Amino acid sequence: MIRNGISILALAALTVTPLTPATAAPAGHPASTRPAAQQKALTPADADAFVARVEKEFYAFNLEANRVAWIQNTYINDDSNYLASAYGARGTEMAVAYALEAAKYQKVKGLSYDTKRKLDILRTAITLPAPTRAGAAGILSDISTRLGAAYGMGKGTLRGKPINGSDIEAEMGTNRNPAELQEMWVSWHDNVGAPMREDFARMVGIANEGAVELGFSDVGSMWRSGYDMPPEEFAALTDKLWDQVKPLYEALHTYVRNKLNEKYGSSVQDASGPIRADLLGNMWAQEWGNIYDIVAPPGSGDLGYDIGDLLKAQNYDHIRMVKTGENFYSSLGFAPLPDTFWTRSQFVKPADREVVCHASAWDLDDKDDLRIKMCIKVNADDFVTIHHELGHNYYQRAYKDLSLLYRNGANDGFHEAIGDFVALSITPDYLVQIGLMQQSMVPSEDKDTGLLLRQAMDKVAFLPFGLLIDKWRWQVFSGQIKPEHYESSWNALRLQYQGIVPPVPRGEDKFDPGAKYHVANSVPYTRYFLARLLQFQFYKAACDQAGWKGPLHRCSFFGNKEVGARLDAMLKMGASKPWPDALEAFTGSREISGEALMEYFAPLKKWLDEQNAGKPKGW
Ligand SMILES: [Zn+2]
Repeated sequence: MIRNGISILALAALTVTPLTPATAAPAGHPASTRPAAQQKALTPADADAFVARVEKEFYAFNLEANRVAWIQNTYINDDSNYLASAYGARGTEMAVAYALEAAKYQKVKGLSYDTKRKLDILRTAITLPAPTRAGAAGILSDISTRLGAAYGMGKGTLRGKPINGSDIEAEMGTNRNPAELQEMWVSWHDNVGAPMREDFARMVGIANEGAVELGFSDVGSMWRSGYDMPPEEFAALTDKLWDQVKPLYEALHTYVRNKLNEKYGSSVQDASGPIRADLLGNMWAQEWGNIYDIVAPPGSGDLGYDIGDLLKAQNYDHIRMVKTGENFYSSLGFAPLPDTFWTRSQFVKPADREVVCHASAWDLDDKDDLRIKMCIKVNADDFVTIHHELGHNYYQRAYKDLSLLYRNGANDGFHEAIGDFVALSITPDYLVQIGLMQQSMVPSEDKDTGLLLRQAMDKVAFLPFGLLIDKWRWQVFSGQIKPEHYESSWNALRLQYQGIVPPVPRGEDKFDPGAKYHVANSVPYTRYFLARLLQFQFYKAACDQAGWKGPLHRCSFFGNKEVGARLDAMLKMGASKPWPDALEAFTGSREISGEALMEYFAPLKKWLDEQNAGKPKGW
């Protein structure tokens, strides 16, 4: 997770509570319908001045808002909550006002490249725009707050007893009783999703009006406009990417279905057709790593080492873990983290107060005040997470000298992919290089299947889910999916892309999409699909630059300054240029592609095909 320098845009994306737009448009009279006499012709110089003012105001606001957010995250009490909420509302108000004003300059002739690009950034910065007609912003704000709260307070049941969201999620990962899994799945979707149905439909209608005022055909089209290409082209690109990786997903699906059939029998999971959604170790069947024990191949399934054990054996503490992460980036040529990083970060959970433990990376002043906020435990997950969070920090520092609206990732998939691609380089050989593992412990190549399958259960299983959430919402916002088909269309996409079915039939009185956080809270999702592909693309580029010759998944580019220099060239560009330019700076290619992911998992694909031979494929 990332806390950006331009956090007020991020805040606006999360909490859509537009207050009175600061543009002079009186309620009920959107700017575009005001009498012509009141409109004076706008010039490129006006647009330049507007952008300059926005960047100055945003920056001043951020300096305070970031600190308020930091305090609230690391010291939760009534007062810090009050301040964070007040700053959040103010930030959203500013973002909405700026988006509306930016839309007015959009058609001015003769705009400079930078001004045009920054106006587009401002116009697409709000996730759910409210229209300017009287009362609409309040209604939209109420609805989205209600949906978010309903999700946050949602409960399912287990053995008839209520169970909250985080507990039910954990239980879905470890419970192997099909009746209890079904109970948890059905109760969660019934209790959380179904009641949201009407509110969601109203929200779609109101936000669409707002998108039209900002110059978009609908909200989905607005979301797709953040990718430096026409919205239709971006949708086609995601289809193309899915086609590239689909054969691997289908092979994994077939293999996992057979293992589930072996474990549970045909009365629970048939050996052909779709997979029952509640059997995959995750409430949304989005990542399947939790059931690795069910699918692990005999022999190579046991990976032979655990990073957490290695860290403990050498008495690593949280500081040494973070230093090890920093050392990776230093080995690529990045400057050490500033002293304040070490004194101001939150590395461990304080004993005496409530904090947000969910890991995040912060940039407080767009200068050098970088921090991470974690509750580090000495284990493998947190070791990987540290590398991930530091990726955000190095990105933030690389683009700090750009003007404010450019201090961001090249697109929203890039920021998450940086740390993940570096984490892919934590291979057994790398662990030997830094003295964490002895050479004799490096797993032999016959263990590769287990290593790759464990990775694929999360990273490959996620791909169709990462795609379909917004496929569904894009069609909902465009009106292609009508409210009376919300549930059936959702299940049709789940079947088409993921090859899964609900454990029980679902009628149109349900609303299963709402049982997913990002739908209830209106967070766009395609970024996660892109990040999954980009991280492998970055990884392959780095390994090629490092002259790696072996199988891709064994490569580590630790210590390679040339890779660091090329990576830095991309990071430094921030959001100042279309993302294909940034991609090209590091990888040499302007095309996002699933090929690197396919190459990484090629040995696994071959193995899966052998396991699946003679068995029914697809669903
Ligand atoms: Zn992140």
